Amino acid sequence: MAKRKIRVLFASFEAVPFMKTGGLGDVAGSLPQALLKTGIEVRVMLPNFRTIPEQYRSKMTHVTDFYVSLGWRNVYCGVEKLRHNGVLYYFIDNEFYFGRDKAYGYFDDGERMAFFSKAIVESLQYLPDFPCDVLHCNDWHTALAPVFLREFYQGIPLYENVKTVMTVHNLKFQGEMSDYVLGDILGLAGNPAAASQLREGPGAVNFMKGGLCYSDILTTVSPSYAEEIKDPFYGEQLEDIFRRRSSILYGILNGIDTKLFDPASEADLPAHFTASDRSGKAVCKAAVQKELGLVEDPDTPLIVMIGRLTSQKGLDLVRHVLGELLTHPIQLAVLGTGDAEYENLLKQFAWGSHGKMSAQIRFDEGLAHRMYAGADMLLMPSLFEPCGLAQMISMRYGTLPVVRETGGLKDSVIPYNQYTGEGTGFSFAEYNAHTMMFTLFAAADLYRDDPKAWNRLMDNAMAQDFSWGRAAKEYAAIYARLHPERKTPA
Ligand code: ADP
Repeated sequence: MAKRKIRVLFASFEAVPFMKTGGLGDVAGSLPQALLKTGIEVRVMLPNFRTIPEQYRSKMTHVTDFYVSLGWRNVYCGVEKLRHNGVLYYFIDNEFYFGRDKAYGYFDDGERMAFFSKAIVESLQYLPDFPCDVLHCNDWHTALAPVFLREFYQGIPLYENVKTVMTVHNLKFQGEMSDYVLGDILGLAGNPAAASQLREGPGAVNFMKGGLCYSDILTTVSPSYAEEIKDPFYGEQLEDIFRRRSSILYGILNGIDTKLFDPASEADLPAHFTASDRSGKAVCKAAVQKELGLVEDPDTPLIVMIGRLTSQKGLDLVRHVLGELLTHPIQLAVLGTGDAEYENLLKQFAWGSHGKMSAQIRFDEGLAHRMYAGADMLLMPSLFEPCGLAQMISMRYGTLPVVRETGGLKDSVIPYNQYTGEGTGFSFAEYNAHTMMFTLFAAADLYRDDPKAWNRLMDNAMAQDFSWGRAAKEYAAIYARLHPERKTPA
């Protein structure tokens, strides 16, 4: 008998275009489509948020409904479905939990995530045309699903063959709750083995910890970060688990949406360009200098920062040397929102910079694209970076990244080698403000003094393949390892 394809249910709290608050939304929006191409039969499960745009909501159809037990509660759960870009999406419906204006940030997030995780597992028996081989969970929001699967559904034939994969996108958020939820919501207080794996110190439980202990395979979003999180500096107090389970821990670098970020075709850019004809990039630079109130000068290197203004993104290094940085013949433009102290500092420096610096404190996707296209360099001196997308996006526009060698930044940027001319950007290892500044100055000098070397770096950067195909193949290989009896993916 011919082997059938591996079936994967990909569970996430957000996915573009239905709900996005960060990188997880991008990944869950792109990876399933790429997985289909490798011969994996993937379906995606999301909450049915009230804020999902009407154009999608109106096309959803009802699949089934049932009740989910959550401690002493018995809670309604509907399942709706919608096919989008070739992928079948299921939406877990409960007005009380998901009929709200935002995805996160409510006092009962623990209960909401526990409901979602239990509903995912419960729903498997209501999808007869999709006997699931792999349940792929993402971050703490779905981390309890592998726990529930083993503790409540073990022994039911349908569930016997379901393997679990858990991907960590952001270790900072772990779902730490008071341990009353163990009995009241999770129904696991009387299960000492489960309780001990979920407990984190006295009086607290940690949802992420549960997922990390119960899943068959763990992944994170870059090979370097997969190593770093075994160390206390990056491990957010879960390093012991990553060390203990290192034989089933994999790092897979994210991709980017190469159609969405495309200097050759985007409607909103003032001019288009490709690797072989970059004349349009100069037009983009002049236009963005004008838009940002910077001096319109093609010869001054324009450095941009695009992202959350938090200490994770290395804002402390920037703060330390900003005054000194601006004495050099460069321009700096920042687009982002975040901690008030950084927002205010950047605005203050921009005001007094006489067209050398611009601080745009808002979320503006159009401007982000114009900055990626018009800039010469992107600065990303992160303290830690599980993957990072901005550096990969910038390379697509021939904008050379200047990064700290950590996590996904280390894995995606090849530092300039002055002897061979190789590289796709610039990097430094030490978390030190002056090391960052001198790396930037060296890059700015190269830009001005050696256009040939700079152009070669731009060629290299634009030739990089950051599409999702590579990552999808790596995930498919992991699923295949869990189910060798199924058809081998392409
Ligand atoms: P994060 O840690 O926030 O997920 P990433 O670099 O992985 O950082 O991804 C951030 C994404 O959000 C990138 O696509 C970046 O262009 C975009 N982004 C971040 N801040 C802004 C902003 N203020 N305006 C527009 N886009 C932004």
